[in-house]
Amino acid sequence: MALRLNSALDGLVAYKAAPPLDEIAAHYGLTRLVKLASNECADGPFPEVVEAMSHELAGLNRYPDGGCDRLRADLAGHLAVPPEHLVFGNGSCELLMLLGQALLSPGDGLVYADPSFVMYHTIGVLRQARISAVPLRDHTHDLDALAAAIRSDTRMVVVCNPNNPTGTLLPADALRAFLRAVPADAVVVLDEAYVEFVTSPVYEDPVPWLQEHENLIVLRTFSKIYGLAGLRVGYGIGNRVLIEALDKVRQPFNVTTLAQVAAMESLRHPNRLRARRDEIARERQRLGVALERLGIRFIPSHANFVLLNVEGLPVPGKEVPQALLERGVMTRSGYAMGCPGWLRVTIGTEEENDLFLEQLAAIAAKGATP
Ligand code: PMP
Repeated sequence: MALRLNSALDGLVAYKAAPPLDEIAAHYGLTRLVKLASNECADGPFPEVVEAMSHELAGLNRYPDGGCDRLRADLAGHLAVPPEHLVFGNGSCELLMLLGQALLSPGDGLVYADPSFVMYHTIGVLRQARISAVPLRDHTHDLDALAAAIRSDTRMVVVCNPNNPTGTLLPADALRAFLRAVPADAVVVLDEAYVEFVTSPVYEDPVPWLQEHENLIVLRTFSKIYGLAGLRVGYGIGNRVLIEALDKVRQPFNVTTLAQVAAMESLRHPNRLRARRDEIARERQRLGVALERLGIRFIPSHANFVLLNVEGLPVPGKEVPQALLERGVMTRSGYAMGCPGWLRVTIGTEEENDLFLEQLAAIAAKGATP
C-alpha cells in the first residue's frame, strides 16, 4: 500500500543539516575549519549560565515547568510587560510554526518579504496558504509593496528586522506607519531574532507599540547574542488573545528545563550582553572596511552577519562558498537563500574574521585552488 502523506509536503524539501564540522574538516584534509554559516554567536553561553545549568542536571527526570513561570516573571520584569503577554518556544522557529498553525487555514493569505528568513516560505507551504513574497527594494523591506499585498484574506504578515539575509534595518517611523496601514484582522509578526546586535539610533523598541496594535507580535530569541542556539529557546511578546492562541497549539512542555534556567540566568548579565554587542559592532565595521579595500560590494548590516557580492571574483559566484570551505571557512551561499550572486558570512571572533578575509582575498587574487 502506498503511503499517503499530506499533499502540502509535495511543495517542500526537507532541511538538510550539514554533517558535523570534524567530519567536513577530515573530508577536506583541513586542520582548522571555522563555521560562519548559521549566524550563531562565536562565544558560548555566559559562564554564569553554564554554572546555573550544571545545578539542574540531576533533576532532569522531571518534566520542565510547562508555563515557564519563573522565566516568564523575570522576562516580564525585564521588558516591563504583563507576564501573560509572553509566550515561549523551542526556539523562535517553533513560535513561527505555531503562528502558522494558529492563524493560517488553507487559502488564507501570508505576506512576507523576499529574500528573508526561509522558514516563512516553509510555513506558508505547509499551511497551504496563499503566499505573497514581496521582493525587497534596495535590499530592504518595501513596506509600501508589503502593505499593498495585504488583502481581505491575509491573516499573517511577517517583517524580519533586521532582515536575514540582508542585515538591513527598518527605521521605527516607517514601521509605525506600516502598522497603521495594516488592517486589524491581519497579524503582523515582527521577527527580531537579531535585535540585540542593533546599535542604530533609527531603531526603537516596538514593545510599547503593542498597546496600540492588538494585531502585533514581536519574536525574539536566546539563540543569537546569548549563545544558546543549541538549547532552543525563544519568546513572543503580544496581546492576550494571540498569546492564548499560541498556548493552545503548543505542546505542554515545549521549553526544556535547561533552556529555561539558561534564559533566566542570561538576563542577569546585561554588561556581558553589551560587551558582545560592542564587539560584534566593532568587527562588523572592520569587516566592512576590509571588504571595501578588496573591492567587494556588501550590504551594510545591523546584525551579526554580512551579505556580500561574489560575482566579480575569478571563481563563478556559485562556487565561492565551496572554495572558501576547502580553505577552512564555512559560509552560506546566497544561491540557496534566494540571493544569487551573494554570500552570507556570520561575524565571528577577530581571528575567525581574519581567516575569512584572508581566504576571500586569496580567492580574489588567484581563484579557487587553495
Ligand atoms: N528568525 C530569523 C530571522 C532567524 O534568522 C532565525 C535563525 N536563523 C530564527 C528566527 C530562528 O531562531 P531560533 O529558532 O534559534 O530562535
